[in-house]
Amino acid sequence: MAAALGRLRGLLAAAGPAASNGRPWGRLSPPGTRLLGQSCHRPAPAGPRAGPEPGGGGLPEGVEYIPTRKKGKNPMKPVGVAWYSLYAHTRLGYLFYQRQVKKARERYPHGHSMPQPRCFLGVKILPIPVLSNNYSYLVIDTGSGQAAVIDPSDPLAVQAAIEEEGVVLEAIFCTHKHWDHSGGNAALRQRHSSCKVYGSALDSIPELTNPLADREKVSVGCLTFEALATPGHTVGHMVYVLDGGPFGGPSCLFSGDLLFLAGCGRLFEGSPETMLASLDMAVGLGDETLLWPGHEYALECLTFARLLELDNPALEQKLQWAMQQRQEKRSTCPSTLGEEQAYNPFLRTHRPELQAALELRQGKEEHPDAFRARVLKEVRRRKDLYKAT
Ligand SMILES: [Zn+2]
Repeated sequence: MAAALGRLRGLLAAAGPAASNGRPWGRLSPPGTRLLGQSCHRPAPAGPRAGPEPGGGGLPEGVEYIPTRKKGKNPMKPVGVAWYSLYAHTRLGYLFYQRQVKKARERYPHGHSMPQPRCFLGVKILPIPVLSNNYSYLVIDTGSGQAAVIDPSDPLAVQAAIEEEGVVLEAIFCTHKHWDHSGGNAALRQRHSSCKVYGSALDSIPELTNPLADREKVSVGCLTFEALATPGHTVGHMVYVLDGGPFGGPSCLFSGDLLFLAGCGRLFEGSPETMLASLDMAVGLGDETLLWPGHEYALECLTFARLLELDNPALEQKLQWAMQQRQEKRSTCPSTLGEEQAYNPFLRTHRPELQAALELRQGKEEHPDAFRARVLKEVRRRKDLYKAT
């Protein structure tokens, strides 16, 4: 989403002044009605659609919500904040998303990457490449045929996977409100009327039926998912952890825009301190945990990371591997959280070599976490500039 924000300017001009009327849907019916064709024209049940309530009870204990515009706390420039606001809070964002979907379907009729499913005893995880670099994930309890999908941004692609696998969609887990993660919720809900939509009430997630609190667990067939509140990218960002215990495999982290292979999400609605706390929570899930991110950003992130750490063999090795994978259009996920700590600069804020590369030093009175947040802020700032060039 972040890379495309600049292109909103053109769309704003094309859409005219009525486009930004302050209401996400304008006067049209919820999006997706048209996307899945005539066979699913059941009226959508009106699920609760809670607005963001910063400072509400959905944040993990000890995490302070810091609004985007608080001076000195957010690295985004005022212009970036204005465009982000249009994307996230007006109908313009939805129009932009629709155009993204259309373009991506034309450009990548078979998806931007070759999906590589992972199977464990009784569970199948199927990445679904959508838009130009997003991933949705279909997670199947193979015993019962019950399934959940994470971040279904293109409902047609997700529906095709559901039909091919012959499964019943029980749940949508939405990491956050951005259209490239939530845009398919309405269409899938219409097609699968018993399917529940899970997410944080702090984000305006379309069709949200079951708001989740931090650490709340949800079962789908034999599968158990735990929701973890991870604010920073958005105030209500949540990640979902599939417990690997029952099927004797590693746990799986579906990280949305919190964490990517060698990268992390932009700080649209939170401070570096908030994002650091969320990243620390992810790392605490254990080295063996598989990371299934919301985007295929590996090459860009690894190339950026190498600018900061020239002498990191793990980083170099992963970059070579990722180049090979991407040449063959193969997906780079999953990695493991253990691996990520060896090369992902956003998880290495405690490392002296990274701090030295950024020419940052801990102040005498400075708390270690405050210093790490400062390191994170600087890495993020440089990444934002790197992406813009
Ligand atoms: Zn996002």
